[in-house]
Amino acid sequence: MNARSDELRNALVAVMQQMEASGLNHGTAGNASARWGDKFLVTPSGIPAAQLTPDSIVEIDRSGAYEGDFRPTSEWRMHVGLLAGRPDINAVVHCHSQYATTLACANKPIPPLHYMTAVSGGPDIRVAPYALFGSEELASVVISTLEGRRACLMANHGQIALGRTPAEALMIASEVEVQASFYYGTLAIGGPVLLSNEQMNDVFSAFLSYGQKPKKEV
Ligand code: 13P
Ligand code: ZN
Repeated sequence: MNARSDELRNALVAVMQQMEASGLNHGTAGNASARWGDKFLVTPSGIPAAQLTPDSIVEIDRSGAYEGDFRPTSEWRMHVGLLAGRPDINAVVHCHSQYATTLACANKPIPPLHYMTAVSGGPDIRVAPYALFGSEELASVVISTLEGRRACLMANHGQIALGRTPAEALMIASEVEVQASFYYGTLAIGGPVLLSNEQMNDVFSAFLSYGQKPKKEV
């Protein structure tokens, strides 16, 4: 295990433990991964976050061949397929967070009810069709639903988010959960008032200059 792999292994353990601590995940639900050169690092299958160590993170290649004694997450096809096909991202997190999964179980995409639905990379947050956990079919429907996007719900299952780093993927998953809770709440009081396409396009333009940027020369 060289220095950079250590750093990434620690980041994946941290993301799983933060998901547990913040209530985004529980038990052995959820998994995370990161690009590691031309291979991938994924969380092991069936191990609760509190018991994860950097050594239990599994190095795996595109064919599913892996090193060490720990079996990779049952969702390795979904993680490896996304990382291999999406040069714009380096990390993936999947969880069964409460509100996102509630909407996913009702097969309800999250419409543009708040400007931060744009965190998904589009105006709404789509739902990938149902397929068995760990299946090639699930990997395939999630990969297509995420085309051009950074997050989606997974029908009757949970949610998934993509980032340049594990921390960024976690931030997106946390925001998806907040958006899901807003939508769930508005459904209880007559339904949301949606933002228009034009208003959402303005959000995407405003995001380009949002946050800390280098000072302009005067
Ligand atoms: P693993 O423990 O195999 O990662 O499975 C958890 C899960 O969320 C399956 O979708
Ligand atoms: Zn799952």
